Amino acid sequence: MNKNSSNIMALAPNTSNKRETVCIFGTGDFGRALGYKMIQSGYSVVYGSRSTQISNLIPKDAEVLSHAEAAQKATVIIIAIQRQHYNFLTPLAEILRGKVLVDISNNLKLNQYPESNAEYLAQLLPGSKVVKGFNTVSAWALQSGTLDASRQVFVCGDDAEAKQMVMNIVRTLGLTPVDKGSLLAAQEIENYPLQLFPMWKFPIFLSLGLTAFFFFYCLALDVIYTYIYENNNFSFFIAITIPNRVCPVMALILLALVYLPGIFAAIIQLYRGTKYRRFPDWLDKWMLCRKQLGLIALAFACLHAVFTLVAPLRAFVSWRTSKGIISQALNNKTEPLNHTTAWISDSYLALGILGFFLFVLLGITSLPSVSNNVNWREFRFVQSKLGYLALIFCTAHTLVYGGKWFLSPSAYKWYLPNIYMLSLVVPCAVLVVKFVLIFPCVDKPLTRIRQGWERNPKYSE
Ligand code: NAP
Repeated sequence: MNKNSSNIMALAPNTSNKRETVCIFGTGDFGRALGYKMIQSGYSVVYGSRSTQISNLIPKDAEVLSHAEAAQKATVIIIAIQRQHYNFLTPLAEILRGKVLVDISNNLKLNQYPESNAEYLAQLLPGSKVVKGFNTVSAWALQSGTLDASRQVFVCGDDAEAKQMVMNIVRTLGLTPVDKGSLLAAQEIENYPLQLFPMWKFPIFLSLGLTAFFFFYCLALDVIYTYIYENNNFSFFIAITIPNRVCPVMALILLALVYLPGIFAAIIQLYRGTKYRRFPDWLDKWMLCRKQLGLIALAFACLHAVFTLVAPLRAFVSWRTSKGIISQALNNKTEPLNHTTAWISDSYLALGILGFFLFVLLGITSLPSVSNNVNWREFRFVQSKLGYLALIFCTAHTLVYGGKWFLSPSAYKWYLPNIYMLSLVVPCAVLVVKFVLIFPCVDKPLTRIRQGWERNPKYSE
């Protein structure tokens, strides 16, 4: 009985107790949105403003005072003002001495100022304890409650106690504080909202470029060539046939590009005989966006699966099938089952299904909620071993499907190789080099290098 009642007590929020007073300088968009949220969470809010007139935009229960008066009422003061106006704070230095100032400001450009806004604030008011936070949360999201994408609040500051106070406020507002360390991290935190999918840029541009290239390549060979030389109008190929050629090719090439930087890294380490030298910048960047490359590859693979599944619904496919049946009927002759063709078609379908299954597994294990629940060895096993297996299955799937065209002269329209041949270049190169790398005479020194051994210590920095 006792136990139950204590549980209920622990779960029930103490609504009667008001939390402490928090001061917000600035009654602009962000100051108001944060004020609403704080009042909802039980804080008393006092605004410091140039004008003490209450407007109906200000949260109902908040007080509006002059900056000096408002600052005296709270220990934590949130500076919801643009950096260029911070000068007005200098005359308030004495009142703000010992107070916790929360810098929430953002800039318009990456690295706009030599120092971060929070460091600048700390220089202006050396007697105050400056903490950076809340800048990655938007006023709109705070007010509308749609904080799903931005629930994390990055916090940094030199005073541990001040930082803890701000993190407690963050938690009370239902957000998740992420401690980023000292105020030196402020520049990085201020750059976050200005970054547009930083890790996705290269994979997206690369995918768009390659997709456009392969699309026009297929358009030229499958539609324009056929129209010019065979007088057949296959322009409707643009809708499904060509995308269903481009998607698997993209999926395979991008999957191979996930593993190619690892191959380069291994070759560089073997050549240098040490792991204690930085990889070239381009390789570092490439390695960092492997997950994104893999996810885009998975998206292409899914599209390929859907395009393939709808194939029987297509008018062109049913026309071709009925044409075959009618021609057999007219000739009064049933074509015998070609066992080689049956084997080939079943094999590439089976390889495709297995490759796709592993592809999906790789995608699922890259989700943070899943990867957080496996240890490093398990993660490496899935991403490396099963990843290579997926690459082998997908390469074999393409090879079995497209292989029949390799030696056929009709496949070389305008002397250009078929798209399937092009798609196999990178994956085959990756698999062949990987095969060489797992030979004991290569694998042993590489493993030793990765464990810290150096062939020639002069290379170490
Ligand atoms: P805002 O709507 O322009 O409001 C800024 C407030 O600063 C004004 O309402 C004004 O308040 C005060 N102010 C303006 N000029 C001043 C001056 N010369 N001296 C003293 N105070 C002055 O801007 P905001 O969107 O609320 O943004 C405020 C800060 O939050 C910025 O640093 C911004 O980077 C940051 N932030 C904003 C968002 C967002 O979604 N809006 C998100 C993250 C971070 P009074 O009239 O009451 O004095």
